Amino acid sequence: MRITVIGGGVGCARFVLGLREHVRRSGSGDEISVVVNTADDWWVSGLRIAPDHDSLLYALAGVNDTERGWGRAGESERVSAELAAWGTAPDWFTLGDLDLGTHIARTAWLRGGATVSEVFRRLGARWDLGATLVPATDQEIDTHVQTDGGEIHFQEWWVRHRSQIPARGFAQRDVSSAEPSPGARAALEGADVILLAPSNPIVSIGPVLAVPGMRDLVREAAAPVVGVSGIIDGAVVRGMADACLAAVGVETSARAVAEHYGARSRGGVIDGWLVDETDAPAAAPLEAAGIATRAVPLWMRDPDTSARLAADALALARELV
Ligand code: GDP
Ligand code: CA
Repeated sequence: MRITVIGGGVGCARFVLGLREHVRRSGSGDEISVVVNTADDWWVSGLRIAPDHDSLLYALAGVNDTERGWGRAGESERVSAELAAWGTAPDWFTLGDLDLGTHIARTAWLRGGATVSEVFRRLGARWDLGATLVPATDQEIDTHVQTDGGEIHFQEWWVRHRSQIPARGFAQRDVSSAEPSPGARAALEGADVILLAPSNPIVSIGPVLAVPGMRDLVREAAAPVVGVSGIIDGAVVRGMADACLAAVGVETSARAVAEHYGARSRGGVIDGWLVDETDAPAAAPLEAAGIATRAVPLWMRDPDTSARLAADALALARELV
């Protein structure tokens, strides 16, 4: 079976780790592909940074810093201090030395003419990831945030201002001329199951779906599409995704996010939706809106709970075939 996940970042990484664990335990040999958000990417000190991809890469490779929750384990910051001294990198965006190695390799390949897809392939080939990472698109579609003081890059809003400046909206630059990468297209067309990770719906999954043609690939896919809520009991559980939801007028609730995605039978992108047990009352109204909803434990605390969640998502998908 081919399982295709859409997402990007730390929430997606936890989910895919659980999915990989489940597949390994079941011995099914199922193949996992992840269509990764690239709209978090940006240029710093002449280097292309890809935070969502790298979170997935490091987590699946087992070289991530599990205490900090991002970046490489055993990291140092000597180069970053030099860049700050030269004034070529903002002092609010720290780049570890090992992490910089990835960014230098990526940038060198891009400068040499490689596509983003090819860069993903080369970076992923270093470790046995147990999943294939493909970019949503090969074009640059960096997310920008509209604020009262003008438009700023998503990373400046998210990291420098910790999402504390009111956001009026989000837009991906040059997205109208982007198209799904060949790998993303193949992963969606060939999927037996499509899963929406519990990633940030506005700035991680939203930009993937904003690539012209991507929504149609999801909508027209033969596979059932099941999403997992990143919201539990009205809170985002980790991070600041509620600031993004508020900016676009979506309530921070499992129900509102499902309605934001919408039922595939009614013009949206999901057939099924997993909410936490504490959000079980959302099931009836969502079922009425055409979304098959199940309440299961959604906290991913360790390999067991994450694998269990992945199994629940696949079980719902099986019901919908
Ligand atoms: P980012 O790009 O690094 O912010 O990561 P993502 O967009 O992939 O995911 C961030 C989201 O993951 C958070 O806003 C949470 O809503 C969600 N998340 C994190 N941990 C958990 C968890 O244990 N369970 C669930 N259901 N969602 C989680
Ligand atoms: Ca992200």
